[in-house]
Amino acid sequence: MRNVIVLGSGCAGSTAAIYAARASLNPLVVIGHEPGGQLSLTTDVENFPGFPEGINGPDLVENMKRQAERFGAEFIYGSVMEADLSKRPFRLNIDGEWHEARTLIVASGASARWLGLANEQKLIGHGVSSCATCDGAFYRDRKIMVVGGGDSAMEEATFLTRFGSEVTLVHRRDQFRASKIMLERARSNPKIKFLLNTVVEDIHDVEKKLVTGVRLRNLVTSAVWEQEVDGFFVAIGHIPNTRPFAGQLELDPDGYILSRGGARTSVTGVFHAGDVQDRTYRQAITAAGAGCMAAMEAERFLEAEGH
Ligand code: NAP
Repeated sequence: MRNVIVLGSGCAGSTAAIYAARASLNPLVVIGHEPGGQLSLTTDVENFPGFPEGINGPDLVENMKRQAERFGAEFIYGSVMEADLSKRPFRLNIDGEWHEARTLIVASGASARWLGLANEQKLIGHGVSSCATCDGAFYRDRKIMVVGGGDSAMEEATFLTRFGSEVTLVHRRDQFRASKIMLERARSNPKIKFLLNTVVEDIHDVEKKLVTGVRLRNLVTSAVWEQEVDGFFVAIGHIPNTRPFAGQLELDPDGYILSRGGARTSVTGVFHAGDVQDRTYRQAITAAGAGCMAAMEAERFLEAEGH
């Protein structure tokens, strides 16, 4: 029986683990299917306070993990397959093995959203990617396409100019969700070409098991055309990882945890931290702050219950 199980090893989960471990709660951290969370998929982080020269994302989150381990947090690989939050202790099936916990901190984040094209899933790892940092280097001197109009798309397109001979950014509107600074950085990069009011209709070539090109459609003119592409990066946002909790925790229509104030969820003893609940700020620093809040609430809850 654990005092605290933390689900997720990103900024939120690792910070929750640091606080819970320092409170002598010996937390178990379930690393999840994306170890280190979103930070492990990024390069330079320039806005995390305390690093005037910036810090590499994977280094930042690895430091947090080591910091938590120093105080006794235990990290295990695995994902939650099933959960029973109907009574305490809570029960979690982690890769086939059941674990019990008095409190739970859900910091399972949000995963990449896909376009939903028939060939997209078939070509993941064969030219289709959601992670420029992971896969960009495969497309040295090749033609790259990025889809999306938010900060992720701008960041990925800018990063990918290090490798590609050209980078085409495809966005379905002519307005952007991206912040001004990131949009301007992408706009002023001569290697990036913008295709606005445009959607991707299909990706080729499943038979060759390789991305060779896409079919595009302009939503204003209805023009349809083919374009050669070698690397296809989807950067259109994320989906919260709450599937095991559907019907047990109160979620919004998109699956994000609904907060009951502070770090509290609709189930007493279950707390939220980071992107799994936050669809507004979604920053490393806000996730870290949320992890701290969740651990402090878990600690107070356990203390009030006499543990
Ligand atoms: P986002 O801001 O939600 O933007 C998603 C983009 O994808 C939107 O432009 C959206 O188009 C488009 N999109 C969504 N579904 C689509 C579909 N089915 N087909 C085509 N396009 C689709 O997501 P994000 O860019 O991942 O950013 C999320 C958060 O992380 C933001 O708060 C952002 O500031 C932050 N972030 C920060 C940094 C940084 O500071 N270094 C880097 C990355 C992300 P519409 O606009 O038409 O809806």
